[in-house]
Amino acid sequence: MNIEQFYPLFLQADKVTIDSRKITRNDIFFAFTGDNFNAATLAEKAIEEGALAVIVERPEFENKDKNIFYVPSTLEFLQQLAIYHRSKLTIPFIGLTGSNGKTTTKELIHAVLSEKFKVQYTYGNLNNHIGVPLTILSIRPEHEIAVIEMGANHQKEIELLCTISQPDFGYITNFGKAHLEGFGGFEGVIKGKSELYDYLKENHQTIIVNQNDPIQVEKTENYSPKITFGKVESDYNFEAFSEDHFIGLTYQGEQAVSKLTGAYNFTNLCAAASLGLHFGISFDKIKYAVEQYTPTNMRSQVVKKENRTLVLDTYNANPSSMTASLRNFITFEGRKTIIIGDMLELGTESEKEHQNILELAKILGFDAIITVGKHFKAVSSSDLAFENTTELIEYLHENKIQSENILLKGSRGIALEKVIDFI
Ligand code: ATP
Ligand code: MG
Repeated sequence: MNIEQFYPLFLQADKVTIDSRKITRNDIFFAFTGDNFNAATLAEKAIEEGALAVIVERPEFENKDKNIFYVPSTLEFLQQLAIYHRSKLTIPFIGLTGSNGKTTTKELIHAVLSEKFKVQYTYGNLNNHIGVPLTILSIRPEHEIAVIEMGANHQKEIELLCTISQPDFGYITNFGKAHLEGFGGFEGVIKGKSELYDYLKENHQTIIVNQNDPIQVEKTENYSPKITFGKVESDYNFEAFSEDHFIGLTYQGEQAVSKLTGAYNFTNLCAAASLGLHFGISFDKIKYAVEQYTPTNMRSQVVKKENRTLVLDTYNANPSSMTASLRNFITFEGRKTIIIGDMLELGTESEKEHQNILELAKILGFDAIITVGKHFKAVSSSDLAFENTTELIEYLHENKIQSENILLKGSRGIALEKVIDFI
């Protein structure tokens, strides 16, 4: 099946989906591995339900039904279709990657740019080799700007995602200690994330640079075009402030305060505001967008519960974001308990990194340190080192946490949000 021949059919479809449960009339369904085992039933069912087309990688479907298309690889066909669609689009594409803060920055950019444009952007965290093509395929004629989150845990992944999304603007939120295992250490992270810069440079596209980040500065030295923030001499200069632990930014004397906690969110806000100003949105409107945006996604979220303040940062954790989170939380007033979960995917550096975090937590001096997960438990002698959330919940049945402030932060695999109802 040839992409050019298939493209007109795609343009008629309502949406593209890889989830057989989400198929509605007039959709295109891509059956992925796993689904391909019972592709026969799924494909026929999809057609019965009114799907416009079904893509399968099982040769027995060749010429069986005019709406069922056989391709050697569903994934490759999805990616090629996205590349083709992208090549027909003339709207600006903003590509984001980095170790921490991609989703938060993406949400903020979306909020800001939506003040003036119809923006299509990555839903949730669909930032990989399947999510990026799906996002691109969801872009319709009414959209005026696209914001694409690109995630990676090994080399060459960002390169592929750039080939697919062909960004006109790119921003790396930061280089941190995340996915060290797959990238091969911190140097590997820098190399892997910089594939975004490589693409932008080769194609003379715009790089957004936080001039307070020495790696970003070094990697983009003498390059143009770029949009800069972070220093007095930058294109856009903001100052940080915080109000009741919420992070705000000042621009030319005007203040905007977000509903995000954590000093690290300042750079996320700056990136979004810089893009807004670049695209001709007034700071008044940016302020409105920033003040309205409320995180509901377990990232830097502050929740008040029975006179207590909970900081929910349970979506993910790695040494960089854990450190940032602890340093932010120690500034809260009153007693403070931290519930921290394992940081996964650290490979050979795992033990040392868990030890470092425990040391840091002790030095900062929280009122109580509770850990969840095997990695922390292995390097801790505390009674408050639990193997998993079930053990911690049992403990919480008998023991109440006394602190007015509680931080919950850990990797996705630990799912620390499970304990919220028991605090
Ligand atoms: P993922 O790799 O899961 O897609 P992400 O890069 O999209 O992660 P977010 O989901 O936005 O990142 O944020 C995850 C956590 O990282 C936040 O809750 C916060 O603790 C931390 N974080 C966010 N922004 C920054 C930043 N600029 N620097 C350091 N840590 C940050
Ligand atoms: Mg993300």
